Amino acid sequence: MTTEKAVPWEKMNRREFLALSALGAVPCILSACVSDSPSSVTATPSPVHATPSPTKPPPLSDADWAALARNLQGTLVRPDNPQYPIAHQLYDPRFDYIRPAAVAYCASPADVQTCLAFVNRFGLPLAPRGGGHSYAGYSTTPGLVLDVTRMNTVKVDAGAGIATVGAGARLIDVYAALAPYSMVLPAGSCPTVGIAGLTMGGGIGVLDRKFGLTCDNLLAAQVVVADGRVLTCDATHDPDLFWALRGGGGGNFGVVTSFTFQAHPVSTLSIFTLNWPWSSAADMVDAWQNWAPQAPDELWSNCLLLGTGDKSSSPIARVNGVYVGPVASLNSLLQQLTSRVSVAPYSRFASEESILDTMLIEAGCYGKTVGECHLPSQNPQGQEGRSTYSAKSDFFTSLLPRQGIDTLLNGINRRQASPLLFGGGILLDASGGAINRVAPDATAFAHRDALFSAQYLAPWNDSASNAIVSANFAWLADTWQAVRPYASGAAYQNYIDPNLADWQHAYYGANLSRLQSVKSMYDPGNLFRFAQSIPTTHGA
Ligand SMILES: Cc1cc2nc3c(=O)[nH]c(=O)nc-3n(C[C@H](O)[C@H](O)[C@H](O)COP(=O)(O)OP(=O)(O)OC[C@H]3O[C@@H](n4cnc5c(N)ncnc54)[C@H](O)[C@@H]3O)c2cc1C
Repeated sequence: MTTEKAVPWEKMNRREFLALSALGAVPCILSACVSDSPSSVTATPSPVHATPSPTKPPPLSDADWAALARNLQGTLVRPDNPQYPIAHQLYDPRFDYIRPAAVAYCASPADVQTCLAFVNRFGLPLAPRGGGHSYAGYSTTPGLVLDVTRMNTVKVDAGAGIATVGAGARLIDVYAALAPYSMVLPAGSCPTVGIAGLTMGGGIGVLDRKFGLTCDNLLAAQVVVADGRVLTCDATHDPDLFWALRGGGGGNFGVVTSFTFQAHPVSTLSIFTLNWPWSSAADMVDAWQNWAPQAPDELWSNCLLLGTGDKSSSPIARVNGVYVGPVASLNSLLQQLTSRVSVAPYSRFASEESILDTMLIEAGCYGKTVGECHLPSQNPQGQEGRSTYSAKSDFFTSLLPRQGIDTLLNGINRRQASPLLFGGGILLDASGGAINRVAPDATAFAHRDALFSAQYLAPWNDSASNAIVSANFAWLADTWQAVRPYASGAAYQNYIDPNLADWQHAYYGANLSRLQSVKSMYDPGNLFRFAQSIPTTHGA
């Protein structure tokens, strides 16, 4: 491991950077847990803006449930079980009010078959659940939750470069299993996100400009479909289903029990972060958007505009990234970025790191073990917390004019000025590279022409007041609306947004009609449905 120290204007050393990371100031660099500092405001219980499948289940007898439990290799957790208070939770406490009739921890495809037969027999609503990170709470239901997290083994065939991953695996476990072989799978940064939802919605991450999205690396998947058949689909077996699982979104076509991925050998990874004064944020965004999407595939970066918890400070203007290669080559690329901004960054850090440390740092878990980089409910050593937020997304196919950049910055300035809004902000993630070399109709993931994407993030404390929650929703809606004229109109299906009106076209574009055909083929009765599930061609 080498740490670059020779650049005269470098002010942040490795120890300082990693201390910040461990404190959570550089957490989950790509994702929803990036709030700089949570609100410490006390409050009344927050209203819920969730829209999960609302159907009320029919009454079933205890004997029916007992029969289901007996027939499972895994376990069934009902509301009277001491494990239920944890078992019914998703990642976001906003959805704790949804009380499933039962959570089935399926241990095998046969368990999933048993559960599907049960819900078919009783007309019970169901929701498959992987990591439980759905932004809209679509992985819970008042009916039966089919939890796949018991199927979480990761098997690596290093010679063939293939990883077979149980659908219940979390991202940090996938990274940790591959790292000893000096291999990676491009996936998201947040450690507790499930491989299942992430893959089926695309999978944006710090290695995807080099190796493609997570779904681009899928070679095969084992799926239990609505009629109970267990299918292994790939490019030649059930190819339409295989196509749909790569970007068509989780929860639409069946319950995936296992994924087979192409993994990639990697010898050296470097990470970096550059901070500019807020007064240079517009220059920074402009320089970044002209640099990041055209950079070599090896370089992934994002541009962060973040509110802070301390209202006396300025918002944060930062560029982060990961480079597949040595820090010396990274430095000359960073020089190209910094030379485009009239003011030098006030802090700069660049360093080579091991694969696992890179992923732990990106996850906001540096200094923690892999076990600690989980929720306590997932691992007895887990030290991560749940969080509450709402989000929206955009893709951009042309560069932002100065007015568009000012619109982004105004959104952050409003957030920083508000006494009700803390942390959160706007994250621009570079696209291009291997992502955009895949044809838009080659997989169900249609967003192949973007220069970058945006995620607008509004977090709050679980105990925040109604006023704080409402202010966050209003900020999201206003900020996103103001950016409309500059965005493509598409949205990322994995940042699933219950308040998006034209979600079908925004998520799937021209791939929508083929997705509807696949839905009609594999789930003609629309067993797998939720507020934003893909409809069949016959409108079921
Ligand atoms: C903190 C945080 C960080 C994130 N970071 C990233 C990131 O870096 N990159 C990125 O691309 N996305 C990221 N996301 C978005 C994430 O990819 C999606 O929320 C994804 O759907 C989560 O998958 P999951 O398995 O954890 O969630 P779940 O809520 O379990 O599932 C999501 C959807 O998939 C369905 N589903 C789950 N398991 C299965 C299965 N086995 N078979 C069929 N359907 C299933 C569910 O029913 C639900 O509709 C992040 C989200 C959060 C909350």
